[in-house]
Amino acid sequence: MRLDPRYTEFRPAPDLLADRVVLVTGAGDGIGRAIARSCAAHGATVVLLGRTVEKLERVYDTIRSEGGPEPAIYPMDLAGAMPPDYEALAERCGSELGRLDGLVHNAALIGVLGPIEHYSPEAWQELMQVNVNAPFLLSRALVPLMHRTASAHGHASIVFTSSGVGRRGRAYWGGYSVSKFAIEGLSQVLADELDGSVRVNSLNPGPVRTRMRASAFPAEDPQTLITPEEAARAWLWLLDARDVHGQVLDAQIP
Ligand code: NDP
Repeated sequence: MRLDPRYTEFRPAPDLLADRVVLVTGAGDGIGRAIARSCAAHGATVVLLGRTVEKLERVYDTIRSEGGPEPAIYPMDLAGAMPPDYEALAERCGSELGRLDGLVHNAALIGVLGPIEHYSPEAWQELMQVNVNAPFLLSRALVPLMHRTASAHGHASIVFTSSGVGRRGRAYWGGYSVSKFAIEGLSQVLADELDGSVRVNSLNPGPVRTRMRASAFPAEDPQTLITPEEAARAWLWLLDARDVHGQVLDAQIP
């Protein structure tokens, strides 16, 4: 697999996202960290949402050392967050940042890989909470602010992070696969409702050199995979692509 030329040939201006605000979930590691850095490197103020504060602080330091706008750290464990926590987040984004141009649903758990008949109900619930309920609650809370942003500035974009097993079920991928099908569904329903006023798309990164990938494929040589930084080009493209809405996209091609 390799990055789609659409993204490798993309030549973003350094100020592509200047003055814009982008929230990235799971911004402390893997693909989310790379998306956050890439958005900041192109001028965005990034809200770094994640559960491990030390990781978010390291990303904050990296963005500052790379000359990006000061990011905001928003510690939040999506496994335990309740609806009022999402309302509080939306309230703070509105009052302190005044706009939200991009929402990147990236955080996810891979959970247990094994047969459904051995899947523990507790593990299933936690996975659905992080992978499905959290993107629903975040979208629900933040769409009004994104509507206002799109009305004022002509543009806002929500990106759901999918997976190949969210488009075709595969044995032993359990709740993770099911959760990614749900993400595709949420993306399509929201896209149909919002009708392009706020753009909504799903993006499957394909195999990327991260901790999650290594946990699922321990025998694989990570050097054969694209890096999170390479993958992040696809998110940057999608955050800016003004005529792309309601699409089911892949970052990589065979
Ligand atoms: P990683 O495991 O490397 O990173 C996942 C991020 O999500 C981490 O920052 C993690 O935080 C965060 N996260 C997990 N649980 C929670 C939680 N309860 N609350 C808040 N944050 C949480 O994964 P990847 O970077 O590989 O994956 C990113 C996205 O890409 C996921 O949606 C994944 O499903 C998708 N994907 C990845 C592929 C790949 O090959 N890597 C392939 C297909 C899809 P912490 O660091 O604190 O654990």
